Amino acid sequence: MAEEKKKPSFKKIMAADAMKKVMANHFYDLNNAVKAGGPKIAWCTSVGPAELLRAMGFLVYFPENHGAVLGATRTAMDYIPIANAVGYSPEICSYLTSDVGAYLKGETPLSKQYKEITSVPKPDVLVYNTNQCRDVKDWFQWYGRRLNVPCVGIETFRNIGDVGADEVKAISAQIQELVPTLEKISGAKLDIDKLREVVGLSRRCSDLWKAVLETAAAIPSPFTFFDGTIHMGPAVVARGTQEAVDYYELLLPELKKRIADGVSAVEGEKHRIYWDGMPVWGKLRELSTLFLEQQACVVASTYCNSWVFTALDAKDPFDSMARAYTELFIVRSDDAKEKYIERMRELFKFDGILFHDSKTCPNNSNNRYGMPQRLAEKLHIPSVVIHGDLNDLRCYSEEQAVTQIEAFIEQLEGKK
Ligand code: SF4
Repeated sequence: MAEEKKKPSFKKIMAADAMKKVMANHFYDLNNAVKAGGPKIAWCTSVGPAELLRAMGFLVYFPENHGAVLGATRTAMDYIPIANAVGYSPEICSYLTSDVGAYLKGETPLSKQYKEITSVPKPDVLVYNTNQCRDVKDWFQWYGRRLNVPCVGIETFRNIGDVGADEVKAISAQIQELVPTLEKISGAKLDIDKLREVVGLSRRCSDLWKAVLETAAAIPSPFTFFDGTIHMGPAVVARGTQEAVDYYELLLPELKKRIADGVSAVEGEKHRIYWDGMPVWGKLRELSTLFLEQQACVVASTYCNSWVFTALDAKDPFDSMARAYTELFIVRSDDAKEKYIERMRELFKFDGILFHDSKTCPNNSNNRYGMPQRLAEKLHIPSVVIHGDLNDLRCYSEEQAVTQIEAFIEQLEGKK
């Protein structure tokens, strides 16, 4: 009788338990602050001025992270229609629509994960940066009107090639202009030494996170894009804190040990792929299983790299924050993005690129203006475009995506 082929399985990352604690502490600290009436809470967009807010004593909450939780728990689908009914198009950011819909329904998936948490924390101020998209400003302004809370922010240039001194100066001035308003809300003056300390911690977190991601340059890779979408949690919600630094100081040696021991994240790794665009949050498990079974490792992504801020510098906090927030991949011109992916190819040695065309996030879908074709010509590697969405699963056909990915991996096989 033929022996049944053993199914490949996921390898547990031991640091994951510590990560869950960092995430739990983040949400409980916010919840406790609401109950106790302090410290004050600031909502911030993912690459908004979180370092400034922390230095001024605010606890920082990130609605985009809540959006991702709504997607990953597949509860987004219950809430998007509620936001559509109050005037938000199904075509706009499904983080926004699922988050606003959940708020209107008075629910949050956090209450299932964390005892005693019944709602997202009420803000004292909302602070956005339009570096990634206009949706975040509309999103925050909706809450500002609804909760009668001040909403302030930074308007960033888009489609930038090289980030020059003029852009840095203009953004830095906008960050500094936020200070008097924030001082009024927090009731305390900004301490520049505290800001330097927080920027220093944020830079340390970023350097460690970058080192974690770069372990995937090893062949075989000890870490996948799907691992990254989970383990990026502390870099997203706790950058600028010692807890985030401590977490990556724990995770990094574990991955280095995997490399030293020849342990791969994907057993028998045969193919290496780059993921461009947003994750499909509600299908992480299915997609990671599909790649695992195909012995293909998604080794790098623009998404997970978006929390790498190498420009941060404690000696020059305002200008370096401005540069770091503006050098972000999503802010840049196609030319700059292509050069970035070329550099990633040299480092991670991937043999193909998957572009996720995310229906409700044109800002982070890079396939629409010929980039796959241009990169195929420059890099001589194939690519595939899958259509889907970050949260709205009505835009994603699993059958079609699986067929496309399997055919793509066959194509990679044929090129070996
Ligand atoms: S970048 Fe995309 S996913 Fe993120 S908030 Fe903007 S539209 Fe939504």
